Amino acid sequence: MTLNRKFFLGFIRIHILYHASQKEIYGVQMIGELKKHGYKVSPGTMYPILHSLEEEGFLKSRKENVRGKIRKYYQITSKGQKILQESRQKIKKLLNEVMAF
Ligand SMILES: [Zn+2]
Repeated sequence: MTLNRKFFLGFIRIHILYHASQKEIYGVQMIGELKKHGYKVSPGTMYPILHSLEEEGFLKSRKENVRGKIRKYYQITSKGQKILQESRQKIKKLLNEVMAF
């Protein structure tokens, strides 16, 4: 993991949680979504992030067979909702401070 990626990891995690709160997500789809926002995240980075979010209880997953391939879909948990809500407040405060020029 590059230094920049480590630095932006929190942003990426919040972004993933946000989308998982809207509807179920899966790895490849989130890689594309983040790319649109200027984050280059490889599968080798994305999957460990999803796994740790699940291990920490912020996401839960289910497996589905999609054209012969097992795909893991993730959705947000109530613990995830809570931290997302907390993040929103912190983002607002941070925005107010760092963008106030
Ligand atoms: Zn997005």
